[in-house]
Amino acid sequence: MPLPSPGFVPSATQVSELDSGGDDRPWIGPEGQVMERLELHLTYHCPERCVFCSEEHRMQSYRPFPVTWGRVATILRTHAERGVKAVHLTGGEPTIHPRFIDVLKLARKLGMRTSVGTIGTRLQRPEFAAAALPFLDEALFSLHGPTAEVHDAVAGRAGSFDQVTAAIALAHRLKPELGLFVNTVVCRLNIEHLPDTAALADRLGAKLIVVSNTTPEGSAWDAYGRLAVPLEDLATWLPQVPDRAKNAVVRFFGVPMCLLGPHAMSSNDLHWDPRVTVEWQSAPGKVAFAGIYSWAPDRRRLHPPACDPCARKSVCMGVYDEYAARWPTNGLRPFPRQG
Ligand code: SF4
Repeated sequence: MPLPSPGFVPSATQVSELDSGGDDRPWIGPEGQVMERLELHLTYHCPERCVFCSEEHRMQSYRPFPVTWGRVATILRTHAERGVKAVHLTGGEPTIHPRFIDVLKLARKLGMRTSVGTIGTRLQRPEFAAAALPFLDEALFSLHGPTAEVHDAVAGRAGSFDQVTAAIALAHRLKPELGLFVNTVVCRLNIEHLPDTAALADRLGAKLIVVSNTTPEGSAWDAYGRLAVPLEDLATWLPQVPDRAKNAVVRFFGVPMCLLGPHAMSSNDLHWDPRVTVEWQSAPGKVAFAGIYSWAPDRRRLHPPACDPCARKSVCMGVYDEYAARWPTNGLRPFPRQG
C-alpha cells in the first residue's frame, strides 16, 4: 500500500504498510499539520511484567520477529527524508536492542532529536549510560510508585524500583542538560501513592512528569476490571500532583480534562504532537512493518452523552471507550458554556 500523499486527508488514525522510500513529501494532517514525530518500536522483549503493559499482546505475537538494523536504518532514513524531526524509541524495552546506541547515532546524523522510553534496564549501568547519553536528547523513565514495595508490585519484578531510580540518578549526574522525564501509569494499585511518586520524581531531577491513565490495551485490557481507576478517584488524586512536583512540568495523559481541577491546562490533550508509530502489524499470511498515523490523542477514547453540554468537548478527547462501556460516567464534570 503506498504511503499517504500530500493533501491526503486521513481519518484520525490510519495504518499503512511502509515502503522502502523514494518519496520525500511530508505527511499532512486534516488540519494541515506536518508529521514530525516518529515512534519506533525497537524490540518486543522486556524483562519487566507491568500489570498494565499495553504492549503485552503485541510482544507475545511479535517476539519471534526481530527488528533488524537494516530495517531500522531504512525507517529512519525514509522518515527523515519526509520531514520527521524527532524519534522516540520504545518497545518492549528499547535499550536491550543490540544496536541501540547505533540507532541513536544514525538518528542524530539524520538530524533527528532522540528520545527513549525506558525502565532503566541498561541505562542503570554506568558504562552503557556514558556511551548512550551523548546521543540522547530526552529519556522518559517509567516510575510507578514512591517505594520499591509499590513500584515492584506494579512492574511485576523485585528490583525494578532500584533499577529505574539508579538509572534516573545516573542520567541526572552524567548529563544535567538531558530532557529527563518520568512517566507514571496510574491504576488502582498505585493511585493513592501518586502524589508521593510525583514528589520522588521531582527530587530525582525530573523536568517533566507524565501521569498516564491505564489504557485498555494488552495486559490492561485483560485485567481492566481490577485496574481502571474510577473517575471519582482520578478527580481526588490527580489535582494533587502539581503541588508535589515543585520543579517539574506536569502533563496528564488519557485523562478527562474535567477531572484535573485547577490544572485542566496540564491535560496532554492540549500539548500533543501528531505522530507516526512504526511497529509490526498482522497482515494476511505475514507480519509487516507498518506506520500508524495519529493526528489526535483520541486512541480508544470517546465522548459519552455526559460530555454533550461541555464547553471543552472540542479539545478534550473524553474517556476510554472500555471505561464508558463498563461503568457510569456521571463522575465527569462538564465545563459550563458561557452565556
Ligand atoms: S465532560 Fe467530557 S469533554 Fe468535557 S472535559 Fe470532561 S471528559 Fe472532556
